[in-house]
Amino acid sequence: MTTDIRTSALAAIAGLAAAPELIDGALRTGDGDRELVVRDPSRDEVLARVRGASDAQLDEAAEAARRAQRTWEDVAAVERARLLRALADAVEARTDDFVGVITAELGAPLTLSRRLHVDLAVRDIRAVADALEAFEFEHRIGNSVVTERAAGVVLAITPWNYPLHQVVAKVAPAIAAGCTVVLKPSENALATAALFARCVVESGLPAGVLNIVQAGGRQISDHLIGHPAIDVVSFTGSTEVGAAIAQRAAASITRVHLELGGKSPSLVAPSADLATAVKVTLANCFFNSGQSCNAWTRLLVPRASLSEAKQQLAQLVGRHRPSDPWSEDARMGPVVSTERQSAIWADIAASIDRGEDVVAGGLGMPDGTEHGAFVRPTVVFDVDPQSPIAQEEVFGPVLTVIGYRDLEHGIELANATRYGLGGSVWAATSDDAAQIGRHVRSGQLDLNGGPFNPAAPFGGFKSSGYGRELGGYGIASFLEPQSFQY
Ligand code: NAD
Repeated sequence: MTTDIRTSALAAIAGLAAAPELIDGALRTGDGDRELVVRDPSRDEVLARVRGASDAQLDEAAEAARRAQRTWEDVAAVERARLLRALADAVEARTDDFVGVITAELGAPLTLSRRLHVDLAVRDIRAVADALEAFEFEHRIGNSVVTERAAGVVLAITPWNYPLHQVVAKVAPAIAAGCTVVLKPSENALATAALFARCVVESGLPAGVLNIVQAGGRQISDHLIGHPAIDVVSFTGSTEVGAAIAQRAAASITRVHLELGGKSPSLVAPSADLATAVKVTLANCFFNSGQSCNAWTRLLVPRASLSEAKQQLAQLVGRHRPSDPWSEDARMGPVVSTERQSAIWADIAASIDRGEDVVAGGLGMPDGTEHGAFVRPTVVFDVDPQSPIAQEEVFGPVLTVIGYRDLEHGIELANATRYGLGGSVWAATSDDAAQIGRHVRSGQLDLNGGPFNPAAPFGGFKSSGYGRELGGYGIASFLEPQSFQY
């Protein structure tokens, strides 16, 4: 059964690799010099080699988006919403194709590819269509009529960790706002983006509204940031690359929107149910093999509860066992590449060298795996809050546990990194958690494990970026007010 899924996915990827670009409504082969590679991280096996887009193709995509923008903004909001729903339907109709392709290039277990990666993306698009139908594009202020105008042509640059969700979280609100888009997906998720390109064609979106170019990051920066056809750069990825993009965009005063890294806290108040908080935090941190920008990677518990938390972690950590993602019962796969595996191992090795208490996981391959980009789910216990392992994003399955003196100290530690993306607060009641959460500088906080809402704004404080994605706030991020005085 799973062999069949893998065989079909590999055949699909070979087809996608032959025409991975979408430029002005046409699926095309890249004619650039750079070779991009699709790899299965669970076997470290090359699945396809792809020629990236040339600079001339980047120009074509940007100019197609510019031409389409002139008419797209004037398409009625209700029709834009209809087309977005058609896009969601097209993605949903290809669920089985996406599941195979995402498992192949991300290494996500089949169940996670289906229930999370595809399903969430479909919900994201539909939430934007709902928000668009309710959106007020015009209002009066005294003798002025203020119209919310589309910000223009958006260069969208996305990462690989949620290969479909990160793409639609950006392009659906941009399109809803009346912008047109040149999307540059991650090289690690190019086949997912090429499959999404088929959905764009099938949805009936007019040519040029959404273009997809496959290229390296540096080429895109050099050629498209500051390009006369590009008005906005919307970037999701690491804080370091985001800062470089903002610097480059400054020269042409190009508007920038940044969704960057995180080191999010899970703050467990003394009144909380410790066992539930520990269990859910561990599952959240290891989810998607630890590759979530908003993963709760710092568990903050009262010092008096440290030993109880340690016992609970010891019992629970073994349930998170990486295995072959192509197996139907797999719950955790590899990380995205052997390069990322080496980088995560280097962070764990540095922690061991500092004498930190690695109570679970550590270096080496997980039991039952011999090759591929697997990492052992790791817990570093009672760590100094200023240690690099507690300050910097590892972007792998590594949880740090930190003790605090009193709640005020816990809040201080929750805020004591350069990031402010996500997090959770645990207390006797969700209202109590919300009161504590008001002091935590993060873009979104889950109270006692409240579930993700694809209609709510997503984005960061501090070095986690600026601007918001998803739902109505996402649409607002791609608008410029224009006022007419009567
Ligand atoms: P990355 O920064 O290495 O790459 C992100 C994208 O930028 C890729 O498409 C890449 O090709 C491109 N890129 C790289 N260098 C570039 C350059 N000089 N100019 C233009 N584009 C360039 O990040 P990644 O490894 O793909 O993703 C992981 C990072 O993304 C983590 O830091 C994670 O926290 C972050 N992330 C943030 C969010 C969020 O919403 N805040 C969501 C997902 C991931």
